[in-house]
Amino acid sequence: MNQIKIILVDDLSFMRDAIRSIVEKENITVVGEAENGSEAVQLYSELSPDIVLMDITMPVMDGLESLKHIRAYDSGAKVIMCSALGQQKYIIKAIQLGARDFILKPFKPARIISAITKAVGINDK
Ligand SMILES: [Mg+2]
Repeated sequence: MNQIKIILVDDLSFMRDAIRSIVEKENITVVGEAENGSEAVQLYSELSPDIVLMDITMPVMDGLESLKHIRAYDSGAKVIMCSALGQQKYIIKAIQLGARDFILKPFKPARIISAITKAVGINDK
């Protein structure tokens, strides 16, 4: 399979750095980073990534709102939510909005990789 292109969306740069170092050990390329949901919508339209890995709690526009916009723009968009423990209450909402998976932080590297490879193997366009 070709390189998997992803964008990382989190308001905390250390979290983006942590995920970047995990995925770059695999056949996955980080093509962009955003620190809020609004930037993520913009980046998605510019870069057409295979996968978006997105936090929920962010300034300007949160991850659920961003997910809604991205899925409205591209109904086949593959978005994996990645959010803090205590935010399980958002899981159902995220899945209803079309999220492919929901990873709780703190996460194991293998959980991130398996969520990404599973999501790219599914094509519902
Ligand atoms: Mg956050």
